[in-house]
Amino acid sequence: MDLFETISTTGHEEVVFCHNKDAGLKAIIAIHNTTLGPALGGLRMWPYKSEQEALNDVLRLSRGMTYKAAVSGLNLGGGKSVIIGDPSKHKSEALFRSLGRFIDSLNGRYITAEDVGIDVNDMEYVFQETENVVGVHQVHGGSGDPSPFTAFGTVQGVRASLRYKYNNENIGDYSYAVQGVGHVGFELVKLLRAEGAKVFVSDINETAVARCVDELGAEAVGLDEIYDVDANVFCPSALGGVVNEETIDRFKFEVICGSANNQLADDAAGDELYKRGIVYAPDYAVNAGGLMNVSIEFEGYNRERAKRMMRTIYYNVGQIFNISDRDQIPTWKAADRMAEERITEIGKIKLPFMGRQPHRFPGRNRSA
Ligand code: NAD
Repeated sequence: MDLFETISTTGHEEVVFCHNKDAGLKAIIAIHNTTLGPALGGLRMWPYKSEQEALNDVLRLSRGMTYKAAVSGLNLGGGKSVIIGDPSKHKSEALFRSLGRFIDSLNGRYITAEDVGIDVNDMEYVFQETENVVGVHQVHGGSGDPSPFTAFGTVQGVRASLRYKYNNENIGDYSYAVQGVGHVGFELVKLLRAEGAKVFVSDINETAVARCVDELGAEAVGLDEIYDVDANVFCPSALGGVVNEETIDRFKFEVICGSANNQLADDAAGDELYKRGIVYAPDYAVNAGGLMNVSIEFEGYNRERAKRMMRTIYYNVGQIFNISDRDQIPTWKAADRMAEERITEIGKIKLPFMGRQPHRFPGRNRSA
């Protein structure tokens, strides 16, 4: 594998390979872009089949974080880290503290958080070695479960999409198909129902579906049936790749706006939605509530501030639609363009040297 070739195609600034034989640590930290601020992104632990697979994953995910932060107006860059290992077998205090020390050595260029395979106890170990962690327990000033905020943010995206499609952002005037009623999905259904909307739900977990029906008055539909539901808005809140060649043909939906990551199977699916006039609110702009929520930890966590910040998702999604109209491009491409434009513009204002840094190390003995 030609490492520099790989990294230069993805535009990464820095990729750090972390190894500690005694702790069994094999990890990669990828810093994609820090123009806007420190690279923030979760730590994932996964039994990757090869080092190449782990590298591809961390490069892809860290790049995604750059775009998510940029489009959300946050002063953060994109980063991510992965540990190669099985979370059910290979976790230990030494493993996480060892990684924590590597993260600390980056002096705040990279800030970590929980991701797949990692829980709050693992993060406590990382936190013992570095301050550069967010999403820690509330007793340490952390922000706690981001799901209700992600759901609230998703509703802001829905409003912006309704306004764009129908020139009416009244949630209760439309019907919704929510795929996946886990942490975020359940909260989303609750918010939609509170506005009087008709909501259809599906989930592989029958108890979760029953809860939505009994407690929230949603209507249950089958796992595959969700794609055929006659509703205005599709809210994917479970898996990625659910908007694809096969499902698009079945859609009666006019708007797609949900919390799941990577909803489009590929760019062609996004192009097809655009061609058919189905409004797609790009997932990474809509589901940025979790990232916004942890970003507030830097200034001292405050729920009111968090909620206020989530409301900017309405503006951000609206801006994406404006760029789509301006440049006559699908919304997925418009979101990327909005992120890239912000990085370029803010990068330029940072260009002149402002003279704050010391020119010499303090205390340096010049006569030595
Ligand atoms: P979760 O695991 O709590 O919920 C996912 C739900 O989807 C589960 O109830 C699961 O049973 C269900 N599901 C799985 N396969 C399904 C299928 N084929 N059909 C229908 N339902 C299915 O996860 P979550 O935290 O609610 O996150 C939901 C999505 O939002 C994920 O894609 C996640 O990456 C994304 N997201 C979450 C957050 C957050 O704050 N939690 C932030 C950003 C993005």
